Amino acid sequence: MGLKLFNTLSRSIQEFAPLDPAGKKAGMYCCGPTVYDFAHIGNWRTFVFADLVRRYLEFKNFQVTHVMNITDVEDKIIRRVRETNASLREFTGKFEAAFFEDLEKLNCLRPHQTPRATEHIPEIISLIEELLARGIAYKAADGSVYFSIEKYRGCGCNYGQLLKLNFDEMRVGERVKSDEYAKESVADFALWKAYTPEDGEVAWDSPWGKGRPGWHIECSAMSMEILGQSFDLHLGGEDLIFPHHEDEIAQSEGATGKPFVKYWLHGAHLLVEGKKMSKSLGNFFTLRDLLAKGFTGREIRFLLLSAHYRETFNFTLEGLVGAKTALARIDECVGKLREIGVQVSIGSSQETFKPELQPHGQFSTALDADLCISAAWAVVFDWIREMNKRLAENSLTAHDAAIALTSWDKIDSVLGIGAKSEVEIPVEINSLLEARQAARKAKDFKKSDSIRDELKAKGWIIEDTPKGAKLKKI
Ligand code: AMP
Ligand code: ZN
Repeated sequence: MGLKLFNTLSRSIQEFAPLDPAGKKAGMYCCGPTVYDFAHIGNWRTFVFADLVRRYLEFKNFQVTHVMNITDVEDKIIRRVRETNASLREFTGKFEAAFFEDLEKLNCLRPHQTPRATEHIPEIISLIEELLARGIAYKAADGSVYFSIEKYRGCGCNYGQLLKLNFDEMRVGERVKSDEYAKESVADFALWKAYTPEDGEVAWDSPWGKGRPGWHIECSAMSMEILGQSFDLHLGGEDLIFPHHEDEIAQSEGATGKPFVKYWLHGAHLLVEGKKMSKSLGNFFTLRDLLAKGFTGREIRFLLLSAHYRETFNFTLEGLVGAKTALARIDECVGKLREIGVQVSIGSSQETFKPELQPHGQFSTALDADLCISAAWAVVFDWIREMNKRLAENSLTAHDAAIALTSWDKIDSVLGIGAKSEVEIPVEINSLLEARQAARKAKDFKKSDSIRDELKAKGWIIEDTPKGAKLKKI
């Protein structure tokens, strides 16, 4: 069955058909972090959503090129750099490194390319030159370059493809220099910002004098440079629909005359305890804040993946506790299946398909419907219930367990939650386990019991399984 996705451009659910004539390759761009601070849990909702889309496309056998830019020069960054003594690169480098560490903690696949805006200034300048050559952009007296919405519309192009705009309220030629503005103040926006003393050392030479790019043009230039003038998917949080994505379309289509992106996907926002996250409300969490509270990246990923991407998600600490319990259920079941089935090699595909053991087909049907994640989780938990029942009845053969596991592995290639514990066993604890095993072998049960008690006092219990002794954190 085909994958259907809600396209913000058409405001409808459409079958996904990539531009590639062979129907195999899919190019996907997601607006990445602005590296002026640690990414917060709302940003992570959007990046985990992008990871889900990429993983699911790969599950469907598309050859995905996943691009996520690093916005390392824009208004907010410049403001922060001014407040510190660091250079632009020193300042953004710290948050960029943190971003990649967090990405790994959440088990997001690293995008294939993560271009930095500051390393694409020549492409940005060329794109602005093209817009000037086509008469869609103009240079202002201070050396800044603006995009002319009037000229763009005059060429028969549509400004307002993602969001309906009221042009009667717009005053022709009015300009906005800031990257962020509301749709009520739609105006010519800055492509190139002439240098001002507040920019400090952040400036590049250009045909229009010293300056720096606007935020919107960065994404147009980097996405088209890597994925081509027309590509398949563009993702981001819903707050980016206007003006960022609208402006990306205008800049790109204005310069190339070709359709920019086929499918626009937007993730809804995350609230914390029902409210917009804000430092003053005390409900503002970075990933690091949650890890410091003792939650794991895996639990946070699970929770972020629990709601449909187009629904506003209410993040709560209670939800994270629930995630721990749900993951423990999965781990216990998959762990038991591995104990039974791991040794068995599965025959060829001639085998009869057993849907009750192999739920990946139903899982995929759920996700095909605009990534209906709640239905996909329902498939997973129904399967867990069925497996637990059979395990309790001792009616699951090693072969069945192995078949069930291959299906789980397919599912988990999409969910990315794994079924292994994130707890690392310290060397000292492992040595104690080995000493206990040696004592048991030597029939020195007094010693083996005392080691077991010592391990317990240190927070570890030993579980004797058919495959040998295992350590479990209390
Ligand atoms: P930024 O680093 O501010 O450019 O944002 C990076 C990504 O996070 C963008 O796609 C935003 O749309 C997204 N984002 C920002 N705040 C939230 C939120 N509260 N919930 C979900 N996504 C968000
Ligand atoms: Zn962007």
